[in-house]
Amino acid sequence: MAVQSAYKIHIQGLVQGVGFRPFIYRLANHHRLSGWVVNRNDGVVVKVMAGEQEVRDFISRIRAQAPGTSRITSIHWQESEAEDLSGFQIVSSQDASRGVTQISPDIAVCEHCLEDMRRQPHRINYPFINCTHCGPRFSIVRDLPYDRVNTTMAGFNMCARCKEEYHDVDDRRFHAQPIACNQCGPRYEYYQQGRLIRDMQRMMEEVGKALEKGRIVALKGIGGFHLMCDATNEKSVARLRRIKRRDARPLACMFADMETLKHYAHLEEPEQKSLSSWRRPIVLLEKKKDLAPSVTLQLNTLGAMLPYMPLHHMLFQEINLPALVMTSANISDEPLIVQNQVVHEKFGDAVDAFVFHNRPIHNRVDDSVVRVINEIERPIRRSRGYAPEPIDTGLEVDGILATGGELKNVFCLGKDQQAIMSQHIGDLQNHEVYEFYMNTIRQFLHLFRVEPRVVVSDMHPDYRSTRFARSFAGQYNRTTKARRNGHVQQLQVQHHHAHIASCMSEHGLDEKVIGIALDGSGYGDDGRVWGGEFLVCDLSGYERYTHLQYTPMPGGDKVTGEPWRMAVSYLYQAYGEGLYDLDLDFMDDMAQEDIKLLVSMVRKGIRSPVTSSTGRLFDAVAALLNVCTRARFEAEAAMRLESITREDEDASYTFELTPDGIRFVPMVREMVGELQDGVSPAVIATRFHNTLALACVAVVREIHDQTGLTKVVLSGGTFQNRYLSEALEGMLKEGAFEVYRHTRVPANDGGLALGQLAIASKMIH
Ligand code: ZN
Ligand code: ZN
Ligand code: FE
Repeated sequence: MAVQSAYKIHIQGLVQGVGFRPFIYRLANHHRLSGWVVNRNDGVVVKVMAGEQEVRDFISRIRAQAPGTSRITSIHWQESEAEDLSGFQIVSSQDASRGVTQISPDIAVCEHCLEDMRRQPHRINYPFINCTHCGPRFSIVRDLPYDRVNTTMAGFNMCARCKEEYHDVDDRRFHAQPIACNQCGPRYEYYQQGRLIRDMQRMMEEVGKALEKGRIVALKGIGGFHLMCDATNEKSVARLRRIKRRDARPLACMFADMETLKHYAHLEEPEQKSLSSWRRPIVLLEKKKDLAPSVTLQLNTLGAMLPYMPLHHMLFQEINLPALVMTSANISDEPLIVQNQVVHEKFGDAVDAFVFHNRPIHNRVDDSVVRVINEIERPIRRSRGYAPEPIDTGLEVDGILATGGELKNVFCLGKDQQAIMSQHIGDLQNHEVYEFYMNTIRQFLHLFRVEPRVVVSDMHPDYRSTRFARSFAGQYNRTTKARRNGHVQQLQVQHHHAHIASCMSEHGLDEKVIGIALDGSGYGDDGRVWGGEFLVCDLSGYERYTHLQYTPMPGGDKVTGEPWRMAVSYLYQAYGEGLYDLDLDFMDDMAQEDIKLLVSMVRKGIRSPVTSSTGRLFDAVAALLNVCTRARFEAEAAMRLESITREDEDASYTFELTPDGIRFVPMVREMVGELQDGVSPAVIATRFHNTLALACVAVVREIHDQTGLTKVVLSGGTFQNRYLSEALEGMLKEGAFEVYRHTRVPANDGGLALGQLAIASKMIH
């Protein structure tokens, strides 16, 4: 066949592991083009023997018809040498350069596969069924390019049938790397009191029976183990809590289907969309009706998800229960367990039965958590189904490693202009989590072929992520590689500046803005604990315009678990010694001496560092209203306070903008007065939220009057509060301000690393 011209097309983005090559193959055949397609670690390359107009048509078809889970970030094409080829071929993968393409997040099982489970003879009830459009991805990837040998499926030899399908371009499983069937793929095993069952049907019957009887079962999933039990059985749920030593945090539940869930929670359209998306996150919903009371413990939010593994679907066919508690298998703050042996060691005595499988989990991924605020999905924990999908920053961030915060840690790697956020790592104070952190950083540097030039961390001297940055740079700079390639530079970024920069880079903002960063705590550049910060900033620097007035935290770090301490601190500011004469419910439970001791600490300044934290203000109000005087988990007071807010309350209290910051002492006096008049805590809590929103608006107006700025960026963990976020955004928009909020990374410290990355990019360029 004589060919005059040929073109090479280079496609980048999320184009591996999502059925992209077969799609190209079919498209090329349809257009009767000869040539080839290849996966490289820097993307997919297509060569076609065609004229210019034909290539243009071909590319527009690629853009228009690409598979749903793929995401094209760029298509470059250029003329190339003609080859004498007949037909179109898929060439085996190449490890071409240091440039690397993206790794798909794990994808929930698709409808077609669920059908095949009922129809295809070799896949009847096969719980590891998958195709080019669904199944595990990131969790099984060891290396790139994404090919079976580089995944944890490498140890399973395809049978003749699977091989045939794998090589048949017209098959839905053409080049589906984790392809498997009853003959050749991974398997489940069920253990209960020394009994071992391998037969799938008997296994499902036994698991079903165990769950219906209220037993607790450990189940190996996509990214780690779950512990599960009947969510309507109070005794089981309470026992599960004891096993996990998870005092009071709400437990996530998996519901049989959307219809069932509708009985238990209010669902608007955006919530339904998130619940049924291929990412299948846990969605925080407004509770309608209780399952077992111990699932949420009086909070009005319910964390719910829908089945996403084939086995989940099989389970709900077997059992006659609306929902299962499905919580990560770990003890309090330890990392999610991924190995059969470890789950057995840790839970062998406590759990009634185990469902194991023999496909290793290479990358641990927790379930993701999202919440819909102002009709848009906001990540709270970004992990399975989301990581490691990159975020385009529009900045030159190549070679930057951002080490993140201390709690809810996520780190971030810069690759060209993309930020690759890690999955949720957790609280680095836990030793095992810290190990997981270091290993995952190593894994990401290798996987994404990044040679670090800059490592950036928080300013907090005691964060483990800060210390890691220091030792990482130190170690690297002693190597011969460093002598050859140059030293790694170490940078530090202020916590709240990083929060605002994180939200800015999600939206491609690179200019001066008004930043409101509200959270529990972050290290300030004056060495104090910040957390209610109003910044005038861009990515290069910030000016701290104002903040919540500094308030003593009697007992220092102890205040986090004991909100009543902050209540006493605020009351002392408002009433002095007169606070002893107040008749407040929450004080009834306290020993008078404890309160007196606290007051003397504040007065003398003993162990009472000051803070501008918004989280501590929430603590004070929650304790004052006797909603939460002692917190059993981080941010419990704030969550309980939000939980009792009402939609029909517009009133607010007095605050003052002073040269020392925003002063809420008048508000505290008004609240105490109302409490004594018998106004309900729900009304007061709502008025408190309104007051905080109004205070933010007042500051924004001041800044606007002085600077003319109109873009307002909101970040920090406090903005997971739906009531506050919606109220503030509404007020700002009414005032013609442009409001920017998180949609891709969490507003909490899980999004911090993205901001560190963006600021570091400006510091070095
Ligand atoms: Zn499928
Ligand atoms: Zn097979
Ligand atoms: Fe923070």
